[in-house]
Amino acid sequence: MGAQRKALVTGAGGFIGHHLVTSLKQRGYWVRGVDRKDPEYEPTRADEFELLDLRRWPDALVAARGIDVCYNLAANMGGIGFITAQKGEIMHDNVLINIHMLEAARVQGVRQYLFTSSACVYPGYRQNDADVTPLKEEDAYPADAEDGYGWEKLFTERQCRHYREDYGLKTSIVRFHNIYGPLGTYDGGREKSPAAICRKIALARDGGEIDVWGDGLQTRSFCYIDDCVEGIYRLMQSGEPEPINLGSDRLVSINELVDIVAKIAGKRIAKRHDPTKPQGVRGRNSDNTRLRRVLAWEPRVTLEDGLARTYAWIHAQLARAGRLKQEALK
Ligand code: NAD
Repeated sequence: MGAQRKALVTGAGGFIGHHLVTSLKQRGYWVRGVDRKDPEYEPTRADEFELLDLRRWPDALVAARGIDVCYNLAANMGGIGFITAQKGEIMHDNVLINIHMLEAARVQGVRQYLFTSSACVYPGYRQNDADVTPLKEEDAYPADAEDGYGWEKLFTERQCRHYREDYGLKTSIVRFHNIYGPLGTYDGGREKSPAAICRKIALARDGGEIDVWGDGLQTRSFCYIDDCVEGIYRLMQSGEPEPINLGSDRLVSINELVDIVAKIAGKRIAKRHDPTKPQGVRGRNSDNTRLRRVLAWEPRVTLEDGLARTYAWIHAQLARAGRLKQEALK
């Protein structure tokens, strides 16, 4: 191998960033991880890991020094509960992180740059029906993104385009659709629905009941973490400049998600629906036409397999923390 390529992963203390570091190391990259915190559940495999706050310009400049490829994943984010409740904080932090990281990449001569956007950029008016038409990339306009988090992502997508056009920075943009898997947050208020449901079912007794936000008829698609990092790698190889969906196109309701996890756990579980809790849009699915065309690939881990691996990991975490025993005694 010639000169080893140097990659920066921001948000490397978080769920997708941590997995991406592992995958880039396996592919032979030299990797610097940056985050405000260390990875929670296992040590990083990055060659260097620096604790920096990318809302601060000097920290962003330090993060991007000597880097060929920047994967900017750092973001203040969480599941629907968190992004509904903290819009001002989310926009403030993420706009600063993203503006700083693009400029730091330009100043430090980074050759390629990835921005991790979200399905939350898609307009509410296309997602009012549970039996939703899958969303194509061009559907993002006329814009009516998710308040706060979605608008910030859409704004940064445009800034990536401006940096490409004005300064020649090679930017790519990926729109994730509900990524899940082991080593993801499963507790504490920032967890997403697959992890929350796995935790609730692991803690419930056979024949017990769990809370489900909304009527459970809202629909989504879910993409396993191994497919996510493979897709990121393929996207960066392609150099595609236009935004691209990265998700599964299998639509399921939240009630179906609960039933799949209950089956994996081998438990009979009743659902207690709570209409007072945030549910996000009514339906959302990924149209993978561009993904298939540009990457000659699409996600392949089935929801049943991915959830089985995720459930096993969350169950083991709860067992290690002694929480399964406490629940059994209740
Ligand atoms: P995560 O919360 O696990 O990771 C984000 C990391 O960014 C965290 O470790 C956090 O500490 C770090 N961070 C936050 N503020 C920072 C700051 N000021 N300086 C440095 N680091 C900071 O989230 P994730 O699920 O791994 O998401 C990674 C990226 O993918 C994010 O940009 C997110 O918006 C995007 N995304 C994720 C999903 C998903 O389903 N997980 C869906 C759509 C988009």
